[in-house]
Amino acid sequence: MSWLKKSKEGLKTPQRKRELPDGLWTKCEDCGEILYHKELERNLWTCTKCSYHFRISARTYLKILLDEGSFVERFSEVVSTDPLKFRDTKRYSDRLRKAREETSLSEAILMGEGTIEGRPLVIGVMDFSFLGGSLASASGERIARGILLALETRRPLVLLSSSGGARMFEGILSLMQMAKTNALLARLSDAGVPYISIMTHPTTGGVTASFASVGDVILAEPRALIGFAGPRVIKQTINQELPEGFQRSEFLLAKGMVDRIVHRNELRRTLAWLLHFFAAAALLPQKPRRRAGETLARFRAVGGPVASTPPPPPAPEVQLKPFESESTPSVNGAPGVESPEGPARPPAETPGETSGTTPGGSAAFPADREIPIRE
Ligand SMILES: [Zn+2]
Repeated sequence: MSWLKKSKEGLKTPQRKRELPDGLWTKCEDCGEILYHKELERNLWTCTKCSYHFRISARTYLKILLDEGSFVERFSEVVSTDPLKFRDTKRYSDRLRKAREETSLSEAILMGEGTIEGRPLVIGVMDFSFLGGSLASASGERIARGILLALETRRPLVLLSSSGGARMFEGILSLMQMAKTNALLARLSDAGVPYISIMTHPTTGGVTASFASVGDVILAEPRALIGFAGPRVIKQTINQELPEGFQRSEFLLAKGMVDRIVHRNELRRTLAWLLHFFAAAALLPQKPRRRAGETLARFRAVGGPVASTPPPPPAPEVQLKPFESESTPSVNGAPGVESPEGPARPPAETPGETSGTTPGGSAAFPADREIPIRE
């Protein structure tokens, strides 16, 4: 402090307290930079210094990604009950009620329809703040109905994941959502309707092990934790040091599990480009898909390739080379003789035709095309 501002020698100088109004500044959870809240919002809640992606709600994602006012929520009537009457330190029904009050969501995923640059799509966005974005019977059912809606309308499907995995309070009923959603996604794939999966921090457990990993295109936000079991559990289990950056988006991109890492600022533009690409690709003439066994049936129907192709032109006569001794039989002259190397070679001619027809032979297998046996 400047000496001029000191009130009096020996007296305690009153410190002017630096007051930061609540909600005006936010500290980056990664690099510690103090960020102006409005600037953070402008940058879609990513750190301007280190690109750390703050966790945001499902509604905020929808606002960022979709055309303004285009989102129409669907299947909000599907909600979790407490089928197992589960209770640990608290009742599951109490946890559900609290989560609904705190997040103003009825389940861990918002499912609906919307547009991106005018192109319609079916979209589902998970919200981590609702019981860790866990996959339960209701959230799985919403996803399943969203897939069926995409199938029915032939609109591309986008699912954005942010989840700790299956919801343990519903036991096996949660786990079976993995199989259910993936079975329906297989039907979507068979129908040729595109599915884009976006993985955000964190995408773990049963969500990674099911629908999040089977997109036609898989995008991920930078430095998102993506895996089945967490790194701490794996480290304790295998008792080994894990490689640097293990289970982060960049690591998975290098291993081929993710197609592209997209900064949140670029996410809407990337989705718009992909939707445009898929729409243009759908206009191209499509190759009919063949199922197993169909190729063989078609082959039999046309009687094989020989019937439809003309016979090849006769090749020039092969002259025996001088190094061949008398012990080496001429195939043309003595069909079926046993060679020193092994059993008899079958005759080149078809039955009924003799070697006397040389240089004719059969049309398909002219005798003069036979190549002498070599050592
Ligand atoms: Zn930062």
